[in-house]
Amino acid sequence: MAGSEITDDTRIRAVGPTLASLRSRGAKVIILSHLGRPGGKVLPVLSLQPVARAMGLRFVPDCLEPVGALADGEAVLMENVRFHPGEEENDPDFARRLAAQGDIFVNDAFAASHRAHASVVGVAEHLPAYAGLLMLAELEALHLAIDEPRRPLVAVVGGAKVSTKAGVLAHLLPRVDVLAIVGAMANTFFKARGVDVGASLVEDSALEAAREVEAAGGRKLVLPVDAIVAQRMEAGSPSHATGVDRVAPGWMILDIGPKTVALLRERLVGAGTVVWNGPAGVSEIPDFASGTRALGEAIAASGAYTLVGGGDTAAAIASLGLRGFSHVSTGGGATLEAMEGRELPGVAVLKEAAHA
Ligand code: ADP
Ligand code: MG
Repeated sequence: MAGSEITDDTRIRAVGPTLASLRSRGAKVIILSHLGRPGGKVLPVLSLQPVARAMGLRFVPDCLEPVGALADGEAVLMENVRFHPGEEENDPDFARRLAAQGDIFVNDAFAASHRAHASVVGVAEHLPAYAGLLMLAELEALHLAIDEPRRPLVAVVGGAKVSTKAGVLAHLLPRVDVLAIVGAMANTFFKARGVDVGASLVEDSALEAAREVEAAGGRKLVLPVDAIVAQRMEAGSPSHATGVDRVAPGWMILDIGPKTVALLRERLVGAGTVVWNGPAGVSEIPDFASGTRALGEAIAASGAYTLVGGGDTAAAIASLGLRGFSHVSTGGGATLEAMEGRELPGVAVLKEAAHA
């Protein structure tokens, strides 16, 4: 959102199939959702009213307000559930009151399923609970890519920090055939090897974690060989390609270079499955987006089953107009937690319900 303007409706469109399926069969649908982190208070800038307008649905200004009569196949959108503190606290009474208006619970919020919140977990304790079509598609993609991948399985992990993805690296490493590290993450690996990367973003607290991955990764590990460097992280700052071991003082690595793109392309040839999380550079700035674009194009063209996850990665794909992936996850944190091999609480309650 930019103010009350919707700038990216990916997640709204992503629940379309479930919504259409329910409505076409005459269900009366009460949609619970959240936006941002209002912290249990009413925050008008985080109202879902603009979403109701975009979806052409009646809006109910408080998620605990009685919805009134609904026609068969009608859907209404309730105000942001996080306006109540009971949502994030998974307060039993709040969950019971949310559930009281419905007969069946369908969870299509994969992206929220790593949160043990009332509308994700609590409601499922009061109603028959089912996964929606988006939830199923997300879980199926993770299963195909990580549990039963067509081999070789190539993982490309980039983005800013090693620390936020150490769990992902640890879980993926024994499962993949190739693990390529790109983005600022790779800088920490270079420093851990004793390579001076100038003013590049490095995470000093994660040097040991990088050394561990490096030791466990052995020949599976692929790191960039060259980089696009500049003196400032801004558009128009003069930049050039150089070897990763030749970054001058005051210069920083802001993207992967052409030799690295060629190397990654080579490693993608013949891949059966590719999992990609994390941009290869500062892809928000066009000057440093070429590596992410070329990498994305190579992954999409690989012929492999391709799963792309991560909030910033999905945003980069959208802004660069990249397409042709088997599945682009709508989950940021949820996808990362799933890639760490962790059970998502919102998924766990659905599995329990299925076995009950
Ligand atoms: P995701 O949300 O897809 O999991 P991350 O949040 O881990 O991805 O990382 C995305 C961020 O990493 C972006 O803001 C991008 O600018 C930053 N980034 C990538 N490469 C570099 C780099 N070389 N230097 C600084 N920041 C980088
Ligand atoms: Mg991110």
